[in-house]
Amino acid sequence: MTRVFDTDLALRFATRAVHAGQLPDETSGAIMTPIYQTSTYVQEGLGRHKGFEYARTRNPTRDALERNLAALEGGLHGFAFASGLAATDAVLHLLSAGDHVLAGENLYGGTHRIMTQVFQQLGLTFSFVDTRYPEKVAEAITPATKMIFVETPSNPMMRLTDLAAVAEIARDRNVLLVVDNTFATPVFQRPLELGADVVLHSTTKYLNGHSDMVGGAVITNRDDLAERFAFLQNAAGAVPGPFDCWLALRGTKTLALRMQQHDASGRCLAEWLKNHPVVKKVYYPGLPEHEQYELACRQMTGFGGMISFDVGSAERARRVVESTRIFALAESLGGVESLIGHPASMTHASVPKELREAMGLTDGLVRLSVGIEDVDDLREDLDQALSQAAKI
Ligand SMILES: *Cc1c(COP(=O)(O)O)cnc(C)c1O
Repeated sequence: MTRVFDTDLALRFATRAVHAGQLPDETSGAIMTPIYQTSTYVQEGLGRHKGFEYARTRNPTRDALERNLAALEGGLHGFAFASGLAATDAVLHLLSAGDHVLAGENLYGGTHRIMTQVFQQLGLTFSFVDTRYPEKVAEAITPATKMIFVETPSNPMMRLTDLAAVAEIARDRNVLLVVDNTFATPVFQRPLELGADVVLHSTTKYLNGHSDMVGGAVITNRDDLAERFAFLQNAAGAVPGPFDCWLALRGTKTLALRMQQHDASGRCLAEWLKNHPVVKKVYYPGLPEHEQYELACRQMTGFGGMISFDVGSAERARRVVESTRIFALAESLGGVESLIGHPASMTHASVPKELREAMGLTDGLVRLSVGIEDVDDLREDLDQALSQAAKI
């Protein structure tokens, strides 16, 4: 189990991002945490070792990443996993057959899939609730409910959940609150401070930020949950390799800086898209038109680079995503390079069509992950792609 150093939490965010969890290497003084590419560690004698026995259980590069991620979320314990979904798998393994999970209705497609096609089969039950309304969350809790699982802002509809309000409901009813903080990142939103029990990340996205690895993490302040996560991480074994940990650790050093640019360009493009004749509707929590703008301002300190917009038809959406030259057509998000996607046929294809349409995830919806390129180039690229779409 990895505990952050007390001093790490006293530092301000950007300083923590660069330094937390990392000390110069003891043997050489190397300022960067080495990639400990090893599966095992030599023991001095039976039961005498340096705390490292086997690399599924612990690895020094992974330890450094886990301490760093914990410090960024303002938590005490961090656990790194082989992917965001491996982290979700560990979270759901906290539960037992018969337990009920109340989940947001607009989750990442793979999260919906692991719930309904893996854990349901093992005896967990799920209900998917519009968590924009805390009263609906309270109403949907049953005596079997053990966990509330939300994503805010949600993917791709950018719906928000009032974390402080839902945390209070969870606390009153003795239910765990798990928050997927992949979109906002701890730069803009810190769920543990608002009362969540567990924060989950796909580190594949903004935390790593360079689209060159796949990883996940969970962070908690609760010692009992940390003990269970440490057990599950080792017992189920979905651990990341040391090189991927090192890449993520390199990524978080620039997280604060990158997020500032994603946010500035995100705001600028959302504002511009809103007035474009081909665009029917823009979903971005930083627009005053967003129906939860007031909550966004209260709960988040920035809005980031994820924007969805509706161009009215599948044909127009196809034309837009196939016409951009800088925005690359690809799944995923959160990298320095801008991406464009079509949620209905890409990230959310595993969500049933009725469910998609019910939440506004139409075939005309396009999703952007705004990178850190020059925003004028990005706007011009979208402008020429949208004028292609205007011809149909
Ligand atoms: C990508 C993503 C996941 C899944 O993470 P992987 O690293 O792809 O397994 C979970 N939640 C959100 C919000 C994501 O964007």
